[in-house]
Amino acid sequence: MDNQLKSLALRLYSGEGLSLQEFEYIIEHYSPEAAKFFGNLAEEKRKEIYDNKIYVRGLIEIGNYCKNDCYYCGIRKSNKTCERYRLSKEDILLCCDEGYTLGFRTFVLQGGEDTFWNDDFLCDVISSIKSRYSDCAVTLSLGERSFDSYKKLRDAGADRYLLRHETADSEHYALLHPQNLTLENRIRCLKDLRELGFQMGCGFMVGSPYQTAKTLAKDLEFIQNFKPDMCGIGPFIPHKDTPFKDFKPGSLELTCYLLSIIRIIYPPVLLPATTALGTIHPNGRELGIKAGANVIMPNLSPLEVRKKYMLYDNKIATGEESAQSIKLLKEKMASIGYRIVTDRGDRKEI
Ligand code: SAH
Repeated sequence: MDNQLKSLALRLYSGEGLSLQEFEYIIEHYSPEAAKFFGNLAEEKRKEIYDNKIYVRGLIEIGNYCKNDCYYCGIRKSNKTCERYRLSKEDILLCCDEGYTLGFRTFVLQGGEDTFWNDDFLCDVISSIKSRYSDCAVTLSLGERSFDSYKKLRDAGADRYLLRHETADSEHYALLHPQNLTLENRIRCLKDLRELGFQMGCGFMVGSPYQTAKTLAKDLEFIQNFKPDMCGIGPFIPHKDTPFKDFKPGSLELTCYLLSIIRIIYPPVLLPATTALGTIHPNGRELGIKAGANVIMPNLSPLEVRKKYMLYDNKIATGEESAQSIKLLKEKMASIGYRIVTDRGDRKEI
């Protein structure tokens, strides 16, 4: 491994910020050897803060109606083959009941951007979950909303909000989304969420169409500056009924390399080994954990809707990915030296 790459890794490890060009250099000089080097540094940082604990979140996919038309996404509004559904408040609470019994202390409510989910409905669901399970955190992942709407959700008791920035390069952003969606508004949302006291998460797909080392460097620089509480990254996977159906999926290796780099950039970040990573490789999530991730989000949605929340082809939803298989997941994690804990799993202060 070349000396310059090593010295960049060590500077990052010592807490120094890097420039855009330096991040670009790191990405362009990926090699299995470099991945190992960054991986070891990431592992040390993660151990220091989180020991060998892995936090789990119960993911409830509350609906797949969406008013947006993101070119990569299987639940985009123009996909006429997508069978749409919405969970009721009762359905959602049943998922939480089951999740609580299984040991989950965070529930993530994710869905398409659906005007049906108005503030009153969501606030009612959030406050019902919080009053039933006051020791649990509620995370939302419901896309772009106004400051006032986010404020109502926060006042109702929501703790965290996931909104991937998707790419920190506005031209790249315009190649992934129709014109009405802008990076500027995405960032506005992330800033609003932070101001309102949410623990907030950004993130991006690895290997999305038109991504370059430069756009990835911008993502890393964005993370370095923004210091998100959470960061969701996973490989892009094509969906057969989207404009991006013929693009290649992102790679496992680059995703793991980036997980390590992000862990070193901002050591306390909550970093999931995502479903997409588990989809492109049978051991994807374990490899993600080894690279520096410390969160897994098993699927807690009702079985009959899981196949309908198809963001990309072949998305795993049953088997080990299922919240019901948490025992298996615990054993698997224990076999590689990690411990799944029953905990809200908030971001630690450093
Ligand atoms: N409507 C919500 C939730 C979107 S789904 C929101 O806007 O935040 C959650 C994430 O899945 C997206 O942010 C995107 O990064 C990811 N995703 C969508 N389509 C994908 C694909 N084809 N491959 C991999 N990840 C995808």
